[in-house]
Parts: sequence; structure tokens; C-alpha cells
Amino acid sequence: MATEEDVKVFSFDVDGTLVSKSFTDAVWLRGIPEAYAEQKGLSIEDAYAIIKSDYERVGDESIEWYRIDYWLRKYGLELTPEELFTRYRNEVHVYEDVEHVLKELRSAGYDLVISSNATMEFIEFQIPPVIRRLFSHIFSATSHFGEVKKSNSFYTRVCQILNVEPHQMVHVGDHWVFDFLNPREIGINAYFLDRSGSTNKWHRYIINSLEEVLKMFGDKV
Ligand SMILES: [Mg+2]
Repeated sequence: MATEEDVKVFSFDVDGTLVSKSFTDAVWLRGIPEAYAEQKGLSIEDAYAIIKSDYERVGDESIEWYRIDYWLRKYGLELTPEELFTRYRNEVHVYEDVEHVLKELRSAGYDLVISSNATMEFIEFQIPPVIRRLFSHIFSATSHFGEVKKSNSFYTRVCQILNVEPHQMVHVGDHWVFDFLNPREIGINAYFLDRSGSTNKWHRYIINSLEEVLKMFGDKV
């Protein structure tokens, strides 16, 4: 297990970790279909069915799937990402433990970064400036590295850019493969965050809140 002497950087996933998925779901599953229905004079149900099947056809292995401008252009929607996002700004929900935990880690001298699969537009819209300024770097697999998943090579590049060894980094996220198995494979101290608390905590790398990270690295905090 990592000790606080080893660790220099804490890395966090975004959707499901720092913010809930409600905004992202609202944009993709309500925003795009509703705008398309309005523009084409379709019912919301028909527009939703068309768009859902297009999402499935493009698929999450393709970089386009993640790019909001691709979809706005594809459907000829006269709408900027900002206009679309603003419609759903009330759906942005930063989890309650985030600000406190990040500030404690920062004041303990750790470097904080974001390692996300989301594109930069989604990250920037959802993370308010008061929290964003606590991070030294934001890494988007899709926007910066042209990758659709957070792979081992994604995390290797992040460590190289930050000039740290994998064992000097803690990563926390809510995806079993992309936030836990992949970073662990290269030696990052990854923790699987299950905010629902439904996963049996069969080992010490499963946590239910960010506060548990503070407890683990508590000596220095
Ligand atoms: Mg996530």
C-alpha cells in the first residue's frame, strides 16, 4: 500500500466521481433529441429513437461518439455547445465531499489533477472555477490524446507529463476498468469509488466517498 511519503499527485475522474452523471445524461438523452425534434418537427419520441440508434451505430469505441460538435453538425442543429449546456446547467451537481477533500489535499501539499474520458467542454462546464483552480492539470483522454478510453498508455503519458512514477500517484474513479484495473496495472495506487455503496467492500481499494481518501493519507493531511 502506498504511504504518504511516496505519493505526490492525486488524480480524479470526473463523471460519477466529482460530479453526478445527471448533466451528461441530460445533454445526450434529452438535449440533442429535443433540439432535433424541434428543428425537424418530429415528436420527441421519434427524434429520440433516431438519435439513440445513431449513438449505438457510432458506438463508444469511436471518438465521434464523445464530440458534441460532431452531433450538432450531423443533425444540422443551429445551437452551440454552450447554448445546449446552458439549458441543463441546473443538472450540474458537484458531490458534497469534493471541495472539502480537494482543499485538504492541496493544503497538505499534494498536486491535484483530473484524468477524464470526457471532452474538455464537458469538464469545463461542470467543474466550477472555485474547484477547477485547485487542479494543476486537466487531462482529457478524448480531447488531448485522441483516445476513447483511459488505457494504460493514457496513464503512462499522464505520469510522464507530470514527471512522477506511477507509485507516486493516487487515482480515484468510478469505472472498474478505466479507473481501477488499468491504472493499477502500471502501478498507480488506484481506488474504485462506489458512491452507491452497493459494491461489497471486499478489499481495501473500494471506497464509498472521497473522505475515505483523506482518512487513508491522513497523517500528512
Ligand atoms: Mg466516471
